[in-house]
Amino acid sequence: MAEPGRGGDGGGMDGAGAGASAAADAEALYASAFVWDAHAGFESRPTTDLRNLSIWKDAGVDFLSVNVGYDVRPWTDTIRVLAAFRRWLEASGEYALAGTIAEVRAARAAGRMAVAFDLEGMNALDGSLDLLRLVHTLGVRQILFAYNRNSVAGGGCHDEDPGLTGFGRAAVREMNALGILIDCSHCGYRTTLEAMERSRAPVVFSHSNPRALRDHERNIRDEQARACAATGGVVGVNGIGLFLGEDDIRTPTLADHVEYLLDLVGPDHVGIGLDYFFEADVDASFQETLAENEDYWPREQYPGGAVRCAPPSRLRELTAELLRRGRSEAEVRAVLGGNFLRVAGEVWG
Ligand SMILES: [Zn+2]
Repeated sequence: MAEPGRGGDGGGMDGAGAGASAAADAEALYASAFVWDAHAGFESRPTTDLRNLSIWKDAGVDFLSVNVGYDVRPWTDTIRVLAAFRRWLEASGEYALAGTIAEVRAARAAGRMAVAFDLEGMNALDGSLDLLRLVHTLGVRQILFAYNRNSVAGGGCHDEDPGLTGFGRAAVREMNALGILIDCSHCGYRTTLEAMERSRAPVVFSHSNPRALRDHERNIRDEQARACAATGGVVGVNGIGLFLGEDDIRTPTLADHVEYLLDLVGPDHVGIGLDYFFEADVDASFQETLAENEDYWPREQYPGGAVRCAPPSRLRELTAELLRRGRSEAEVRAVLGGNFLRVAGEVWG
């Protein structure tokens, strides 16, 4: 792709013309790129209004992983959420539940946004590999071991991490066999390294930022990102301001995190997992959940309470910003979704 405005030969364009041309290039790239958002962070309840998925669809997102439960909630909630979300998606017409890459591609060709489900923590499996097999049948394609605190499967990032438990090790084998993407976001350092060592398939951090840029326990160290890349996996950059900086959701900051990872692990191992939630979701009921489960969100790690997140519509700006910084079209396409698409193809089939 041409880079108008760079160097001495601007082709006769003035600054404004070059800027307009760069914007058109970014827009064309974004429109044709496959856009994969590896995690949505909204509260999963049977009553959640999924019409809000239009926030992602209108932003040009082609695939979204939607969580159907996390360790704070009882496992029975996850089954209810799966039942309700499946019913809604099947009736929607605009969205398609996808379990394979062929289904993801078919959804895009039909003008639908593809959706698969993820689980944040294995308490939702109630210690049962049979439940692991069941949630796979119901559309779950990405699971992490522990949500911030230790779980039945392994250590959380805000806890004393004992590593993978026996159940966690069995879950790694079963996820490899079933074709579920192993996700290490929210997990403790030791647990993540053990999972990546044991997995026979690529492992991802669906929504985790580099700790070198923002020293927060939810972010990951360079060696975790390198180990992920060594499995063939992808680190998805998170849009939550607290994990990007001091509640900083500016596009250049998002681009800084993308570029840090590109330089650290190379263009084949960086993606997007914005973790976006809709504001209506941060309601009284969620505030109650926060207050009742302070151990999952330790106050010193989450001061202030209010959390902002860069919305999916920001991905267009991110595209332009990365191009402006000299990143190639191929690199930007890989980050926007090419990498997660590749990994899901390898793992899900
Ligand atoms: Zn999360």
